Amino acid sequence: MCGIVGFIGRQQAAPILLDGLSKLEYRGYDSAGMAVYDGQKIRVEKSTGRLKVLSELTHDGSTMPGTVGIGHTRWATHGEPSDRNAHPHCNTEKSIAVVHNGIIENYMKLKKKLLDHGYEFISDTDTEVVAQLLDYYYKKTNGDIIDTITRVMHRVEGSYALGIIFAEHPDHVYALRKDAPLIVGKSKDGNLIASDVPAILKYTRDVYFIENEEIACLTEDDIRFYNIDGEPIEKTSRTIEWDINAAEKGGYEYFMLKEMYEQPKTVRDTLNPRIKDGQIVIEELGMSDEEIRAIERIHIVACGSAYHTGVTAKYIMEGLARIPVEVDLASEFRYRNPILNKNDLVVIISQSGETADSLAALREAKAKGVKTLGIINVVGSSIAREADRVMYTWAGPEIAVATTKAYTAQLIAHYLLAIHFAQVKGQVTDEEVAEMLTDLKAIPAQIEMLLANKEHIQKIANRYVGARDVFFIGRGIDYAIGMEGSLKLKEISYIHSEAYAAGELKHGTISLIEEGTLVAALVTQKDLYKKTLSNIVEVRSRGAVVLAVTNEDNTEIEKNADYVIYIPQTNKYFTNSLAIIPLQLFAYYVSVGRGCDVDKPRNLAKSVTVE
Ligand code: GLU
Repeated sequence: MCGIVGFIGRQQAAPILLDGLSKLEYRGYDSAGMAVYDGQKIRVEKSTGRLKVLSELTHDGSTMPGTVGIGHTRWATHGEPSDRNAHPHCNTEKSIAVVHNGIIENYMKLKKKLLDHGYEFISDTDTEVVAQLLDYYYKKTNGDIIDTITRVMHRVEGSYALGIIFAEHPDHVYALRKDAPLIVGKSKDGNLIASDVPAILKYTRDVYFIENEEIACLTEDDIRFYNIDGEPIEKTSRTIEWDINAAEKGGYEYFMLKEMYEQPKTVRDTLNPRIKDGQIVIEELGMSDEEIRAIERIHIVACGSAYHTGVTAKYIMEGLARIPVEVDLASEFRYRNPILNKNDLVVIISQSGETADSLAALREAKAKGVKTLGIINVVGSSIAREADRVMYTWAGPEIAVATTKAYTAQLIAHYLLAIHFAQVKGQVTDEEVAEMLTDLKAIPAQIEMLLANKEHIQKIANRYVGARDVFFIGRGIDYAIGMEGSLKLKEISYIHSEAYAAGELKHGTISLIEEGTLVAALVTQKDLYKKTLSNIVEVRSRGAVVLAVTNEDNTEIEKNADYVIYIPQTNKYFTNSLAIIPLQLFAYYVSVGRGCDVDKPRNLAKSVTVE
């Protein structure tokens, strides 16, 4: 789950590697390193800590001259974060350097074999085994690199994206992958490899997506591809449309704040192209009306915040289209032998499209012969490529580890799907659809209004920077909103926080309420106002301080809550898109108030490409 960058060309490599890595730091940041060929040998510099430490160590790369190199930011899986375990890893003679994203599952077995052949290891990582195994086959094949690499590919099990340089072939950078992302960029000053698009956007928009078990061989002016049998293959490049500024902070203190402010645009971009002449048109869905009517059950599978959009979608899809929906955490789905029938649809949601568990769940569904649809943000990512259909959320690059705009875009995708399915199934009238579309189109401006209220939220947040526990309660969609609000808070502020279905309070949770405990109550579902109000009264009478997020017409609540945040009027199914905004702001300001690194919370990385 780390970031990889590689460069070969007519410029100094190290500054390009550092710049690219800075765009990938969200993928892992416990240590960083680079290997650059200096004209005679491969020079490696690495250090524990953020990329900043490596930049300082190498004077922004100036102490590592050379035009060929690879770099890495690590999110440790095997071996503690340390200088020794940081990448790149080398063979003993330091003539081969490797950066790796993923896990070599059979590394113990391979290590034993290499130890038996007299190899020595200096790190605890699985990656070092790859460097030494390359050395082993390089010698065995008398320096035939493609043969060496394919032999290694046949031996290693698990997931990998690898960038490799050889001192004896300093005019090449090699890249290969299996179940971990890696792209190749072609620019006029040279060629690049990277884990993700933002790292190379500054240099090029022409990108090749390396498929599983493919090898890319880059020189200054040329890129060749090979399959696992070492046979040359042809690939075509794609042009990336993302705006380069989208991957920069643009004056905001943190990416998270910037991305929160991009949400109105995200909603418009995800929504507008799919509304034509007052009708929802999801061209990429490619499903006939007969196919939609035949769907008997939908399984939504995702992780983290994407899972929370799935929980929301269940209420909406069942409410509007009357199609039964099951929502699963991807890590659970793939191991529970789910019952899937031929008329089911499996929907996989993922911002990166690389989430390891979600990808595995997708494969599980496909193996069972069920139709799959990906709701994905990153174009050309693994899930986007492997799912039968893909519906993109047009959120652009999301850099902050805590998702905001991609979450918002996923909600919009769910709304569109649910309304479309409901319409095809005759569950909603044309008037109802027209009303819903009017409400959807109003969401961007409504989000802008809520964001403009940030100082009010900041004041409340400042009072809770020292909180020990915070609880989120709600019923129905409000419960799903609470789940996301709670995750936002805990992941970036490290305050313990949990979301409960309000009706569950009495079954245990209420015993956790103490004098002064903050309870955020989500109250946006009119038919449940009274029920949730009773729960608010219950927690308040036990000392809780209540922050209510509710609709404008529910002013009654002021009598029973300590703080009230109103959201503008919208369809009951769309309230999540609005109510989440103050909760995102709240989490953000608590995190800032506590002095946390908002964009890079400890122990987390954005795109979780390991299980
Ligand atoms: N498994 C490797 C390690 O622990 C790579 C982890 C990563 O993907 O960052 O060093």
